[in-house]
Amino acid sequence: MNNRHQCIIALIMISICISLSSVNSSEIPCTDLQKYAAEKGSPIVYDEETNEYHIKYKQENGGEASIIIRYCPSCGAEAPKSIRENLFCKVSEAENVWVELNNDNTIHGIGIVPKEKKQ
Ligand SMILES: [Zn+2]
Repeated sequence: MNNRHQCIIALIMISICISLSSVNSSEIPCTDLQKYAAEKGSPIVYDEETNEYHIKYKQENGGEASIIIRYCPSCGAEAPKSIRENLFCKVSEAENVWVELNNDNTIHGIGIVPKEKKQ
């Protein structure tokens, strides 16, 4: 991550703090994140699969990381609703079972998870 990206991220974080403390913008439609993501070289990217905006950056070890943006840094409006949950299968009642293994990985027991243990 170069100095320019560090400055952009710092400005975004400051803007988030200012926006969240001074603006109730839940009713204001916002297209700022869309504009930021469209800028060439912007660390803000749109992930179509999750309908989320992320800040992407390079880590010191050369890896890439990202932070989900929950609120617009300019006006404080909520980011679009995430559809991340659609990436995961829903466990049906019939599939919600427990399996207890022995030390040698053979099955010791199997059963249905009691309702009080489900989330
Ligand atoms: Zn905005």
